[in-house]
This record gives sequence, C-alpha cells and structure tokens, in this order.
Amino acid sequence: MTSVHRRADRRSPLVLEVLELGHGAGSMREVSRTVPAPADLGLEVIGVPEGSDIDLDLRLEAVVEGVLVSGTAAVQLHGACARCLRDIEGAETFRLQELFFYPGHEVEEDERQIVEDTIDLDGVLRDAVVLELPFTPLCREDCLGLCPECGFNLNDDPTHEHEAVIDARWATLADLDVKPNN
Ligand SMILES: [Zn+2]
Ligand SMILES: [Zn+2]
Repeated sequence: MTSVHRRADRRSPLVLEVLELGHGAGSMREVSRTVPAPADLGLEVIGVPEGSDIDLDLRLEAVVEGVLVSGTAAVQLHGACARCLRDIEGAETFRLQELFFYPGHEVEEDERQIVEDTIDLDGVLRDAVVLELPFTPLCREDCLGLCPECGFNLNDDPTHEHEAVIDARWATLADLDVKPNN
C-alpha cells in the first residue's frame, strides 16, 4: 500500500500547501476544511462511503525536521453488522498525527515527505481510519444475531425459538455431535 509519488497532485482535496509555513520551526497554521472521501477508505465490512463529507480540523506546525500535522477527521461510516447483517450507519472522529519531512531527509518506507511544498494527507487518513475500524462491526454490543435455523433476526424477538422438531439437516449433524455455528 506504500505508494511513493514524487509529484504533488494539487487537484486532490487532501493535498495541502505548506509553503507559507516556511522552513522555520515555530510557525503554525490551522486548517479546517470539508473534503469528499476518497474511494476505498475502510475495510470490506465497514468504511467511509466514497464522496461523503470528511471534516478535517488540523494544525500544521513547522518543526525542525519538517511539518507536523495533527488533528482530527470526522467521517461518516457505513457497514454491515457481522452478526445480524443489518446496515450500520454512524459517525466517528479519528485522530491524525504525522510528521512530513523536508525534502533532503532520508525517509524510511513508513515515513512521509513534503513534495513540491505540499503534503498529501491521503495515506495519513487511511492509516488513521483503517487501523481503528473493527474487523467485526456490530450494530450494538449485545447484538443477538440471526437464528441459525431460519435466519430470523433475533434482535426483533429474543424469545424466537423453534418447536422441538429438528430440521432433518441439523438432525444429521446432531447425530455426528456437531453443532451448527451461530
Ligand atoms: Zn447486529
Ligand atoms: Zn428461527
């Protein structure tokens, strides 16, 4: 996922100019802007819908080695509950912090650099959001999931149960002493 591009894409709303900060440590700028979410921001099960609003509240500070970016990204989330498959809609605020080194600094693979007096927040945003998202999102902490026999959403009626008539397919499993997963 590491793409090192040496040319700044100034059309991207996630690319910010840092020229006016100069190279002197100590200058600071605050940036508040709403940008459209880039594609594929998230995991397969939950993520930020492409084009939805992301509210960035950032502080850009010139430090000795580069520009330190810190702040928050408030995003919309859309996904599906891992247990009952219902849609999950939500909002979440993620913290960002990243040092972009001045050109000339030898950067490691996981470090970022100022390119043509700009910083590209795309990767920073991805790291902040994707690393924090749950691999098994739930519609609520105690989601009851689906009935393993008929797929009924047990959240709608926790007392849902079947007559003792065991489906023939499960009966076979019962003979083998294997329980269906739920
Ligand atoms: Zn659920
Ligand atoms: Zn059922």
